Amino acid sequence: MKPAPFEYLVPDSIEQALDMKRQHGDEAKLLAGGQSLVPAMNFRVVQPTVLIDLNRIKELNYIREDGKSLRFGSMTRERSLELDPLIAKWTPLMSEGILHVAHPQIRNRGTFGGSLANADPAAELPVLAIALGARMKAKSTSAERWLDAQDFFAGMFTTALAVDEILVEVEIPFMTSGTGFSFMEVAPRAGDYALMGLAGIVELDKKGKCQRAKLVYLNAGDGPVNAKEAAESLIGRMLDDKAIESAAAIASEKEINPFGNVHASADFQRHLARVLTKQALKQASERAGARQ
Ligand code: FAD
Repeated sequence: MKPAPFEYLVPDSIEQALDMKRQHGDEAKLLAGGQSLVPAMNFRVVQPTVLIDLNRIKELNYIREDGKSLRFGSMTRERSLELDPLIAKWTPLMSEGILHVAHPQIRNRGTFGGSLANADPAAELPVLAIALGARMKAKSTSAERWLDAQDFFAGMFTTALAVDEILVEVEIPFMTSGTGFSFMEVAPRAGDYALMGLAGIVELDKKGKCQRAKLVYLNAGDGPVNAKEAAESLIGRMLDDKAIESAAAIASEKEINPFGNVHASADFQRHLARVLTKQALKQASERAGARQ
């Protein structure tokens, strides 16, 4: 199918884009990589009357080191997240997780900001953003504000962005050297959206006891699911089979809420979550030991 007719606007600066968004409000959609928006327009699920193309705004495309964190312009391509050495150095969990996002051709166009703003519960980048403690900068013509990743996602394909705001920057703190991490998912084929997946992070003290843990799931509810109770159950404990089994049970039985689909029932998704959590925690704790 072809999209419904729309007016096409191409701003050269953030200010111009913000002005256009303020003027056209709900009628306008921002075009980033187009990898989610254009198919939705072609199916006429979305019918904006105005399309504001962000691709000419160079000041939205960068990755910078900033003391204790990395800063990303929202138009940073997913492929850059995969290939930039700063990512492997400071946020190796991202380097691993990004490889599960679609195919290289799609990652060449798809953007960090586009994936976050799209807020697909099955997407990897929202999960990675929460696991890594990201913050998002939203800008309008009159103000700018920072949102924690946890507060940015507001349900199925919904964010906390106001209608006149554009996501302009993402900040991710460096992962410290003792942090163990793992990204695991099961997809029908490489590059497909996953049936279930998670990003796991653990920090251990010198005796091997867990000091900090995070378990964030995709395709497990109406947005990224941060399984706080499961993660807290690990604090102060050695990450032995018993502790890991118990955390996996809490996350998969109590905290996630998968809906099931044509590829997997909700029960099967819970089963996958349990198995993947155990594998992820084992890998993360081994890496935490090795990285200390
Ligand atoms: P667009 O499609 O351009 O925009 C998406 C939405 O975000 C639109 O509503 C747009 O208005 C809004 N938006 C964009 N930028 C901003 C901004 N700066 N501020 C505010 N709103 C903004 N993704 C995965 O995570 N995992 C997968 O396995 C996966 N598989 C895929 C397979 C196929 C075949 C395809 C076509 C896509 C797949 N994707 C997958 C989606 C891909 O990662 C997209 O690139 C991503 O979801 C959207 O990024 P985009 O830059 O293309 O955004």
